[in-house]
Amino acid sequence: MRSPLLRRSPIPCESPRKRAFFWGFLDFSPRLLISYIKRLFFYFRAVKVIPKAPERTFAADMMLGKLARWMRVLGFDVLYLNPVEDGRLIEISRREGRVLLTRDTRLVRRRGVAEYLLVTCNDPPAQLEEVIRAYPVFRERILSRCILCNRSLTPISREDARPFVPDYVYLAESKFGRCLSCQRVYWKGSHYRNMVRSCSSLLQDHE
Ligand SMILES: [Zn+2]
Repeated sequence: MRSPLLRRSPIPCESPRKRAFFWGFLDFSPRLLISYIKRLFFYFRAVKVIPKAPERTFAADMMLGKLARWMRVLGFDVLYLNPVEDGRLIEISRREGRVLLTRDTRLVRRRGVAEYLLVTCNDPPAQLEEVIRAYPVFRERILSRCILCNRSLTPISREDARPFVPDYVYLAESKFGRCLSCQRVYWKGSHYRNMVRSCSSLLQDHE
């Protein structure tokens, strides 16, 4: 005699025909199940959220003007004031939660300095590398900020950009951004592509 448990089994496995009917009733054949699993796998792989460090902002001292501009090219928010007194720079960086970038060893020993990066190299590209080693660069933020004003760019249409860019740029590029402070128009042309290529090994370190 069959046990009550077996009798209550929801899967009628007696014949392939009945089994097919059962799976068909659930609309869930084994093949379909595998297909769903595969879809889920690809879906979760596609939407996988890569944890990213929160964006840090910076305040550069007066000796680091070129570094500040290069950092802005990479999308970093870098406050650069010239002239500015040391005390005021420390106060702004503390109040706004900015990492103080400086070459001055005495400055970092002053009271009130919270987070800082002591830049040791003379050469701006080497200085930039020092920063990138400590703070991540995100590809999508490159050229998202005005190099002169430090303001985030506002996307504009190709037609709106046309009066401000050479014809060959208008014809070749599709995405443009404008700084609403100085009205400069930016686009991701060959300079951008060369830069991403040259920085690609550093970018990958943080992705
Ligand atoms: Zn600007």
